[in-house]
Amino acid sequence: MSERTTLLASAASAAVGYRQGYAERQVAPSAEALADLAEFEELWPTVGSSAVDTVEMLHRLGSPATVVSNGPRYFGFVTGGTQPVAAAAAVLANAWDQNAALPVMSPAVAAIDATAARWVTDALGLPPSVTANFCGGASEANLIGLITARDEVLRRAGWDVPAEGLIGAPAVTVIASEETHASVKKAVALSGLGRDRMVLVPTDDQGRMLATALPEMLGPTIVVLQAGNVNTGHSDPIQAVIDVAHEVGAWVHIDGAFGLWAAASPAHAGLVAGVELADSWATDAHKWLNVSYDSAIAIVADGDALARSMRADGAYLPSTAGRAPMQLGLQMSQRARAVEVWAVLRTLGREGLAALVARCCDHASRLASLLDAAGAEVLHDVVLNQALVAFGDDVMTQQVIDAVQADGTCWAGGTVWQGRTAMRLSVSSYETTTADVDSSANAIIRCWHELR
Ligand SMILES: *Cc1c(COP(=O)(O)O)cnc(C)c1O
Repeated sequence: MSERTTLLASAASAAVGYRQGYAERQVAPSAEALADLAEFEELWPTVGSSAVDTVEMLHRLGSPATVVSNGPRYFGFVTGGTQPVAAAAAVLANAWDQNAALPVMSPAVAAIDATAARWVTDALGLPPSVTANFCGGASEANLIGLITARDEVLRRAGWDVPAEGLIGAPAVTVIASEETHASVKKAVALSGLGRDRMVLVPTDDQGRMLATALPEMLGPTIVVLQAGNVNTGHSDPIQAVIDVAHEVGAWVHIDGAFGLWAAASPAHAGLVAGVELADSWATDAHKWLNVSYDSAIAIVADGDALARSMRADGAYLPSTAGRAPMQLGLQMSQRARAVEVWAVLRTLGREGLAALVARCCDHASRLASLLDAAGAEVLHDVVLNQALVAFGDDVMTQQVIDAVQADGTCWAGGTVWQGRTAMRLSVSSYETTTADVDSSANAIIRCWHELR
């Protein structure tokens, strides 16, 4: 075996070893593993060392100090695990090391990218005529959507933003709900539209925008809707708002980082009814689709508008026919993200994806009802994969969250929901079973009882 082969084989065997027994491990790393991380604080060596030794150190110190967020009982944020086929496809794609920027750089990736984009569009129930492009995260996809929206509403008002910039341009109003995600506000700021100029519409007790409270839309306007509130999983009244917005020519962008995938489950698609009528969408693959990090999709109904905003010219860049990912997003060089998405969608099929979504939702409601039965308070209607739970007052709830994290059976974070501290549970992994839900609920209840 060559040195390269030996190295890859030892990394692969470390990875396999890491995954074995993973489900039984404590979710949070031990104090000892954390203390050992100090060994990483060595000075940068002048003379390099062996690659085998470097990988060995990574495994010896790094692996035990990871959070088992890729496991079945991690309910923090909206993290999601990595499906085995995605992890396996990533190994091969990494060996290929293809640049997905232009088809000429990798015919294999170009073919996979086009198919994966088509399948994602289909899975989300969007029209086949949309243009979908892979990017690094829903934050980036929101930015791409907002830049495209800004350029298009101003182009219709006779102003060419890519050429002339924003100085002197007509004002653009961005309307979103008070529950809009931090990444949307960041995208508004980055696209020069002014975070503090946003018009934030009040929401109901589930976190849904109140369509009746929409302001009058005058002049160039962008409405940002949410499919899947990060706390409750509820979606804005998509159809009703789009009807009003399109009446006056406003652009509607949907932030559906995880919630858009409700469309893939017939039992849950009603939560995002009307989603296909929007003008642009942002969604993650690294959350609910369970591929590895740094994977999302920006989608725009009018592909020409997207291309006008994202265009980059250079004498050395061939004006290729067909899809050129670098002409549809922010990045030029990029890894072949579509490979993992393609692998997961092909392996699951339509039915498997519907089952993944439905199973996570069923687990979230089981978790919520077990906690409710034990006397905890579920703070909203559990309709998707998210559940917020309080254990008496804010102080006690925070203590339960801390105790659960220290206990290590499962992991849940905290949030503040309508003025109350809450435990936030998100079931987003293919790997979670009913047994995991039951043992996690038991651990949470035990931690609470020990504090009372
Ligand atoms: C996670 C999330 C984002 C940001 O996605 P990243 O992939 O972390 O950039 C945006 N909006 C919503 C609703 C989210 O849940």
